[in-house]
Amino acid sequence: MEDSHLSFHILGSGSSGNSYLFDVGKWSFLVDNGFGLKDWESRVDSINYDPRRIKMCFLTHTHGDHYKGIGPLIRKYNIPLLVHEDIAVKVSQDLPEGRVFSLSHDRSYKKDGLQFSAIKLNHDSPGTIGFMFQYGSSALALVSDTGELPLEQMSLLNQIQILLIEANYCPDLLEVGPYPDFLKRRIAGTRGHLSNQQAIDIVNQIGSANTKLEYVYFCHLSDSNNTFEALQKAIDNDMAWNGDYTICRKGVTYKGNTIGEVCLGG
Ligand SMILES: [Zn+2]
Ligand SMILES: [Zn+2]
Repeated sequence: MEDSHLSFHILGSGSSGNSYLFDVGKWSFLVDNGFGLKDWESRVDSINYDPRRIKMCFLTHTHGDHYKGIGPLIRKYNIPLLVHEDIAVKVSQDLPEGRVFSLSHDRSYKKDGLQFSAIKLNHDSPGTIGFMFQYGSSALALVSDTGELPLEQMSLLNQIQILLIEANYCPDLLEVGPYPDFLKRRIAGTRGHLSNQQAIDIVNQIGSANTKLEYVYFCHLSDSNNTFEALQKAIDNDMAWNGDYTICRKGVTYKGNTIGEVCLGG
């Protein structure tokens, strides 16, 4: 099928906002919006994209860096929002009636050729999920935010070609960084975020079981507790999987797809 690939734009990732746009050729869908509407629209405009192509929006969780701009976006473009069932009622209260649909993490769904599953994650926000999206023979997954990847969720990742995964903090930088102790413990806990090392371990694990894995995007680097260089060093030292990858810098948009063309944005 000529149009069976998935392409995507990382509109932004990191502590100050996350939003991911995916396109299946005829239509597109969004995951998260932690940006104000104007900021989000200017990001979409900068890639010459018509936001009216977006047919639905998924939500990983309700922390502000993923959720802040969801309400204005859903209202303006009148698109449905898909969230984990544990938070569907709460999220519905913020949005126009009938716009919120709930997902369970133990089944897969199909809509206009797109198959998707929620990946159960472990984060200190109720109903946090990642996603596995499959369109034709193409599959990719987004894993962010989570303190660990539950083992039983690994099977959802054994066919993906592309992985978008958070590499939130460098343990050494977190330790000496400005955060109070309770916050440091929260971030490094099993319901916090993935460290560089954890993200690399997950990539190694997926890469050893899944020969289709082609490309990894490391995203959601913390402004305070991580740097491009710290992650690069950890990758150089510990990444056994030898496919291609990109470290996503704050404020930069990235573009890629499942047919192997990768473009770095600006
Ligand atoms: Zn979060
Ligand atoms: Zn986040």
